[in-house]
Amino acid sequence: MSQSSAQSLTQKLLVWFDQAGRTDLPWRGAPCGERDPYAVWLAEIMLQQTTCAAVIPYFETFMQKWPTVKALAAADTQDVMHTWAGLGYYARARNMVKCAQVVAEQRQGQFPSNEEDLLGLPGIGPYTAAAIVAIAHQGPAAPVDGNVIRVLTRLFAIADEMPLNKAVVGVRAAEMSPPGRSGDFAEALMDLGATVCRPKNPNCAACPWGADCRASGDGAATAYPKKAAKKEKPTRQGWAFWVQRPDGQVLLERRPDKGLLGGMTGFPTTHWATQPMTADEAVDEAMQSGVFTGTWRTMETTVRHTFTHFHLELGVIAVRLDAMPERSFDTLWCAPHLLHTQALPSVMKKVSSVMI
Ligand code: SF4
Repeated sequence: MSQSSAQSLTQKLLVWFDQAGRTDLPWRGAPCGERDPYAVWLAEIMLQQTTCAAVIPYFETFMQKWPTVKALAAADTQDVMHTWAGLGYYARARNMVKCAQVVAEQRQGQFPSNEEDLLGLPGIGPYTAAAIVAIAHQGPAAPVDGNVIRVLTRLFAIADEMPLNKAVVGVRAAEMSPPGRSGDFAEALMDLGATVCRPKNPNCAACPWGADCRASGDGAATAYPKKAAKKEKPTRQGWAFWVQRPDGQVLLERRPDKGLLGGMTGFPTTHWATQPMTADEAVDEAMQSGVFTGTWRTMETTVRHTFTHFHLELGVIAVRLDAMPERSFDTLWCAPHLLHTQALPSVMKKVSSVMI
């Protein structure tokens, strides 16, 4: 692409952004304005795999409770996890606290302004590093996410399949990103992808690149980005235990830090297997990890939940205890009507809804 073509495309996009860019996102400042790197970082971590609509209330709550990186660094991790509950991908929250602590303690509360140093911080990958450099510092970086890939593969009719097309898109985005307004350019691409160049029905008539876009010109906008054949998500199965002691309180445990839902509070479960497991096998597994003496009852409803890489089906077994169980890791007891005060991930909320 010639420099003048790149500049022309960039200029059209920025004119559109100044008039039609999203202004209702609480982490946005005015175009070309000063941006708080902490707020940019917080928003970008929350926005990973998550929609703007879902992120907005969480972002506002976090900024109220912990308005600076030093405040977040000093926060109680369980309080952060509790506040994060429902947003999913919980490793992000744990890494966020670790990252805040490094920035507060080793960098005097200042986020680095270059990608290399940012990549050395917990939980910051290439996309987030580039977004912080561009958006918080208007520095030389061009973040590439799914929106950017969709828009630019259409604009240039880039026929490489995912994920190979990411590198090609990265080169094009870097060629177009203007010095001094790289953050606005990045956000303009995000906005164009979210509001105009949508996945299923792009509004090419309203697009600042309508006359330039090769895919649209060929009447093939939705044929991009090219995707490799999708793999079926596997289904895993297991059982969750609703264990009640004689006074009605329900057993919760803190899951191990490593692994899915790491560090989150939930009901005890068996391991999640690719093969079906009978209720008797589930009870055997529970008996091995702690002695439950009581009455067992299998519920009819199956809890279904989809994670990024697999579907999960959980049967629920209700246990009425005669005595306290021995458990190998953190446990606590909670009255059923107070479960809403616990930071339960969505799949565990589904388990409780079977019982309440
Ligand atoms: S013209 Fe259509 S397909 Fe091309 S970038 Fe704009 S909205 Fe997307």
